[in-house]
Amino acid sequence: MKPHFGEDICSLCGKSLDRPTIGLSWFIGNLPEEIFQYGETTMHMDCFDGWKHRLRFSHEAYPLSLKRYKVSRGQSGYLLHEAENYALVCGPIGPHTSNTTPLVADLFRTWHGSHAGELAPFYTDVILRDWDFRLRSNWYDWEQFIFDGYKQQYDGLSTESKAQIDDIMTQLRGHIPGLETLWAILDQKRTELEDD
Ligand SMILES: [Zn+2]
Repeated sequence: MKPHFGEDICSLCGKSLDRPTIGLSWFIGNLPEEIFQYGETTMHMDCFDGWKHRLRFSHEAYPLSLKRYKVSRGQSGYLLHEAENYALVCGPIGPHTSNTTPLVADLFRTWHGSHAGELAPFYTDVILRDWDFRLRSNWYDWEQFIFDGYKQQYDGLSTESKAQIDDIMTQLRGHIPGLETLWAILDQKRTELEDD
């Protein structure tokens, strides 16, 4: 079947985008035309979730999503943690607008520990192997995000898919429960790159 093309319609079902959607990756892969042609189109989240080619498409897109972070040496961000079915990356390090005055930096230090007020990445992304989308958090919102804030971002998925993603996030929360741990992992990655 050919994708439906149009500004405000789902490429899979052809109906209007009146509920949560996903923009699929564009990539060059070894996929047959019938799957490849859906690259860079928009789908309803639920249509994507139930798409018979979802896993094949997502598995092709996944390593390419990670590659940018693996080869960038910090300019595009860092690969912080890689597991079997997900990876945690962060964006490049830049000044946080909210950290520009000493008073605000002090407040951040109180809220977020000793690193606050330093240059920080803007975001972290949990890149999922089985769904071609990311769960994103502002760097300083990590603790709220990893607890349950991420759930705002997977509306439209099936109960089963949500449960699988909840398992991933529980694993990740065990690994990186708080912002101090997140900072420690970033510091370690930066040191590794400098030592190379
Ligand atoms: Zn649809």
